[in-house]
Amino acid sequence: MNIILMGLPGAGKGTQASEIVKKYPIPHISTGDMFRKAIREETELGKKAKSFMDRGELVPDEVTVGIVKERLSEDDAKKGFLLDGFPRTIDQAEALNDIMSDLDREIEAVINIEVPEEELMNRLTGRRICEKCGTTYHLVFNPPKVEGVCDLDGGKLYQREDDNPETVSNRLKVNIKQSKPILEYYDQKGVLKNIDGAKDIDDVTSDVIQILDDLK
Ligand SMILES: [Zn+2]
Repeated sequence: MNIILMGLPGAGKGTQASEIVKKYPIPHISTGDMFRKAIREETELGKKAKSFMDRGELVPDEVTVGIVKERLSEDDAKKGFLLDGFPRTIDQAEALNDIMSDLDREIEAVINIEVPEEELMNRLTGRRICEKCGTTYHLVFNPPKVEGVCDLDGGKLYQREDDNPETVSNRLKVNIKQSKPILEYYDQKGVLKNIDGAKDIDDVTSDVIQILDDLK
């Protein structure tokens, strides 16, 4: 079961990933985790990646792709994997294709959790933090009892710069632009599965599981 998980920030990818690995014997492999592991274990590629990161430079594709290949070749990924955060470009998608052929496997499904931009804006801009104790609230999902005031100590709630509508909207636009060609690429290959991520979390999970069960 070789799966790629896609979705914009706020689409609930993390939640769905943890539900998937609970149900199927495959590891959740995120790009961030892969890099951290390669660097911690000081593999050749890990050291290379670190040298770029230390200089504040982008890690070149050949290094990233090498790290992905190493990780996907490990024992726990032989039954399959849930890949998250990779590929980000068509070049990387092509490289992943080559990796899969080398391993005599193929990507069986690309699960894309779709949520309308407006809903993502609601989810991502609702966070408020207490300036006294740092407790986090959400205007929709976890509102304080009194607007703008911390339940615990009466502290004033503020919004982080990262969560303001303009920053969030820009982040979404960058992500939409980046993921569009990838989604088209996998759609042409006939493996793209779009999921309605605006539903309740549990319903989204059952839709995802339905798709994965159909693969078996
Ligand atoms: Zn507080």
